[in-house]
Amino acid sequence: MSPIRILPEQLVNQIAAGEVIERPASVVKELLENAIDAQASRILLELQEAGKKLIRTSDDGTGIPAAEIPIALAGHATSKIATAEDLEGITSLGFRGEALASIASVADVRLVSRTADAMEAVEVAVSAGQAEPPRPTSGPVGTTVEVRNLFRYVPARRKFLKADATEMGHITEQVTRLALAYPNVHLAVTHNGRTVYELPPTDSIRARVEVFFGADMAQALLEIASEEPAGKLWGLIGPPHLARATTQAQYLFLNGRYVRDRGLAHALREAYRGLLEGGRQPVAFLFLTVPPDRVDVNVHPTKIEVRLRDGHLLYGQLLAAVRARLLGPGITPRIAPPLELPVAGPEGRPPSFDAERDARVRQAVADFLRSPQAQDQPRLPLAGRADKARPSAPGEHVDVRPPVYSPGAKYGAAGGQPQSPTYATPGAAPLRAVQLHNTYLVAETADGILIVDQHALHERILFEEIMARLESGPLEAQRFLLPVTAGLTDREIAAIDEHREALGRLGIEAEAMGPRTVAIHAFPTLLARAEPTAVLRDFLAWALALDAPPTARQVLEKLAHVAACRAAVKAGDPLKHEEIEALLARREVGDLAATCPHGRPTALVLSKSDLEKQFGRDYAAPPKTSDEPLPY
Ligand code: ADP
Ligand code: MG
Repeated sequence: MSPIRILPEQLVNQIAAGEVIERPASVVKELLENAIDAQASRILLELQEAGKKLIRTSDDGTGIPAAEIPIALAGHATSKIATAEDLEGITSLGFRGEALASIASVADVRLVSRTADAMEAVEVAVSAGQAEPPRPTSGPVGTTVEVRNLFRYVPARRKFLKADATEMGHITEQVTRLALAYPNVHLAVTHNGRTVYELPPTDSIRARVEVFFGADMAQALLEIASEEPAGKLWGLIGPPHLARATTQAQYLFLNGRYVRDRGLAHALREAYRGLLEGGRQPVAFLFLTVPPDRVDVNVHPTKIEVRLRDGHLLYGQLLAAVRARLLGPGITPRIAPPLELPVAGPEGRPPSFDAERDARVRQAVADFLRSPQAQDQPRLPLAGRADKARPSAPGEHVDVRPPVYSPGAKYGAAGGQPQSPTYATPGAAPLRAVQLHNTYLVAETADGILIVDQHALHERILFEEIMARLESGPLEAQRFLLPVTAGLTDREIAAIDEHREALGRLGIEAEAMGPRTVAIHAFPTLLARAEPTAVLRDFLAWALALDAPPTARQVLEKLAHVAACRAAVKAGDPLKHEEIEALLARREVGDLAATCPHGRPTALVLSKSDLEKQFGRDYAAPPKTSDEPLPY
């Protein structure tokens, strides 16, 4: 073994850099934080080649006194703390005094700074760990730090740098966090000479959310506020329908610092309990202020994790504030549909019976039958084959047939076009149909009552229609005069590129347009009812949550599925009689509408004998003769 030795400073700094400077985005974070700590009101961030070649921040902060500039670049040098007690009450973003020294040990650094009372600026440069003597130069009050050729001196790290787009994604994330935490700071970002962000100061977090996440999200967010001795909580939370496939749109700022806290993340999830479909993640921008001595920020090199003394109190506070808002007035909680039902799709699993939903439907029917409207509904001449689909098994009220998927054969059966519905089977009794709760269609059949979930049925019909049409080529699309824009994340935009062909087959044409924005130029005519951005978002959430690359067929089916779901009439949509009629007639198309693509049943049947049992009309006569008139 070699003798024990004290390592040279350059090497010590490189080791420290290993912890805090992982990629260009880490440098960006440290430099932006230093500018904020120096009370800058305006920061310009310039990048070249995703920061691999150049990262430069210029701020209008306090500047560094000339005599201290060489020290700023030395290891363990900070103006932010002086004693161990100071560690107990950190109010600045930095305090470890490591960032500049670490950066200067792995890149070429030039720093120019001037305080308000200095006549001129002072410049120092460090190259290959060697500092040149400071020299006077001209420059405004504030500080400019220039970092060139990152990891030039640590080739091992340089090799791990990813493509520019990926590194820019990480940088954007850091910029997003800082821009959200300090909306009052003017922030400008350029990349390869092009302006990427120009964010004037604002009082509104919503305005900043809009820049990074799009106007749809910004407008839908709900404000929460809560003040307790443990801390002050303020934030914007997404209503349940905005939920995403990942936790990427969850931001927690503690005393102005972006942090991750498992406890508080858990509290947030709990607050949405029962309001989200399985696996969906809430959107939230939360700002928590606690007394600085109630939090230890010195537990993680990049300070992304902290230790909260009143963690349990804050947990309860966050949970209560968010929950109250979600269930409070002004919000119609969109309770997630029972998607726990297994999907009867390509996997061929049969959907299971949902007792709760069944009970709800039955109650709705019972309520209706007792209501005066039940008497005076107009008669609609609907074809009467629906009853044939639904014999009810003894002891079980719902009989759901999974759709038969035989790839290639089924969708093409109608020759690329959906069959026209067969009306009025000769001899069949006309059906009476009504809409209940703007959600269910109830029809009288020869043998009982048919209850249809209007959304599930319409979705199913559209899904089959899309799949059938795809057999004979791309769907017919409508081009927008003005593209519809959607704010998306860089990952989502990359996924659009990846699935461009499948999207094109569906008639969806989307293209990146500026940072985190996509323009949708064309959308299928068949799905005109659907909101293009919603369809795209649903699809991307699925694509990004996959563990393995999907097959082309899975992609198409998923697209057809989300598009059908978004284009279908919703629960709560009032329907005209003609629409009810058309929907029920289409139910018979291809006889395949027993379940929606989610696998939820689209229809329930109450047979006459069921009804008789329920109303106690069956005791006088055995089931076999139940068709005979009752003796009373
Ligand atoms: P820390 O931020 O943990 O103190 P750094 O290595 O990031 O450590 O910076 C060292 C010191 O350099 C800071 O404490 C601060 O005094 C000074 N400094 C760095 N950047 C700036 C800046 N943009 N404006 C003013 N002072 C700065
Ligand atoms: Mg710092």
